[in-house]
Amino acid sequence: KSFSDLKLRKAILKSLEQEGYDVPTPIQAESIPHIINGHDLIGCAQTGTGKTAAFSLPILSFLDEDRRSAKPNCPRVLILSPTRELAIQIGESIQTYGRNMKFRHAVIYGGVSQHRQTKALNRGVHLLVATPGRLLDLMNQGFIHLNELEIFVLDEADRMLDMGFLPDLKKIIKTLPDERQSLFFSATMPQKVSQLANSLLVDPIRVEV
Ligand code: AMP
Repeated sequence: KSFSDLKLRKAILKSLEQEGYDVPTPIQAESIPHIINGHDLIGCAQTGTGKTAAFSLPILSFLDEDRRSAKPNCPRVLILSPTRELAIQIGESIQTYGRNMKFRHAVIYGGVSQHRQTKALNRGVHLLVATPGRLLDLMNQGFIHLNELEIFVLDEADRMLDMGFLPDLKKIIKTLPDERQSLFFSATMPQKVSQLANSLLVDPIRVEV
């Protein structure tokens, strides 16, 4: 399979060519068609398998940049990451894959001043990458509203639970619109993780690599 078989839009294929990506990795080849079709998905995959592109490429591909411009404080895509390092990496990937499109994104995490982050949110972003604590904090201050969210991505769910984020996650999840697409990634699937997945996903496709 090649990337051009995956119904990704031209601007994405161009970014991939610029990056020198020749063929999709197994998680990409298996996940991208289902994500484009609007399915919920559970991906069991380690870091290094190409899972960031597995969810970023289809999202950037079908998110319509012209239909509605980025509204202040109302992201349409939320990607939750357990750590700041991973959040920053995901932000860089979105920047790279989306370089031929007009999407705006922001990355928010704790341990730094919130000023630059809230400025970006006020300008409007299509995609928000966040760690749970800072996200809740900014939601409680009214800088983020998730009522227009279309796609929710939970990355490294097992690490998220190991780090004690379950209470925060539950609070965030309660505010998400029921009608949304959810994508769930975890390296391991112990019972607690699959319970969380079941509470979030509707008829998910399972992909394991
Ligand atoms: P990830 O598992 O998302 O952290 O990705 C691991 C690394 O593989 C990243 O540095 C990506 O840039 C790279 N990568 C992802 N997909 C591909 C691909 N299809 N071809 C070549 N490199 C890739």
